[in-house]
Amino acid sequence: MTEPVLETRNLRKAFGALTATDDVSLTLRAGEIHALIGPNGAGKSTLIAQVSGALAPDAGSVLLEGRDVTARDTAARARAGLARTFQISQLAMEDTVLQNALLGALGQSGRPWRFLRPALADRSLRDRAEAALERADLADFAATRTADLSHGQRRQLEIAVALTLQPKAFLMDEPMAGLGMEGSAALTRLLDSLRAEAPILLVEHDMDAVFALADRISVLVYGRIIATGTVDEIRADAAVRDAYLGE
Ligand code: ADP
Ligand code: MG
Repeated sequence: MTEPVLETRNLRKAFGALTATDDVSLTLRAGEIHALIGPNGAGKSTLIAQVSGALAPDAGSVLLEGRDVTARDTAARARAGLARTFQISQLAMEDTVLQNALLGALGQSGRPWRFLRPALADRSLRDRAEAALERADLADFAATRTADLSHGQRRQLEIAVALTLQPKAFLMDEPMAGLGMEGSAALTRLLDSLRAEAPILLVEHDMDAVFALADRISVLVYGRIIATGTVDEIRADAAVRDAYLGE
């Protein structure tokens, strides 16, 4: 089997007496959506933070394409191709959709953000930003003020910004949260098509989205993975039903 794109090995993080993640080992393979589900407080966001570099683990390691990135900070991991989305506050709300995508492309080019104005005239950066918008189904909104987008479209823009970095893997923590039916359906379609470009480690409470999208599901309970399997395997797992699905 080919090497996983992303791997965690025995990640552990305690907050005082509480062990939020306990010996968590998982893989993200090329082309897949691997969903991480579990009750509130199970440690899902803590795990994502350790993978992104926002939180240093007490033990264990994170490997991107086989390279140990555990000692690298979030910015270095992002440059290495680990894209974390859904920090909506990072979008410049008064700027246009295209300007936000350009900021992403500009960040990748290593030039400081004060060069945004010249960047608008830079053909290659502009092409990259426009391609990312097209990819995230936002081509028609390039000139729209970001504040005027719907909630779901802002999430699509976060993905477009990440796409300008040509990511190797996506980390997403509850992207469907707060979206209505239309927004969830649009985002589900987008994630479905994204996995071919970069696999997605997806934390999500919306089980319809998880069952529609996931190639594999891991179930986290009290910081430990209690099961990993396909949608059918997880739905049929008695321990998972008891601990989480409540069916
Ligand atoms: P989930 O995302 O699965 O809902 P979290 O990873 O946010 O769970 O939290 C796991 C546990 O760790 C919870 O009990 C939470 O209260 C605790 N926790 C998370 N972050 C901190 C922190 N910075 N300090 C103390 N406890 C924390
Ligand atoms: Mg969480």
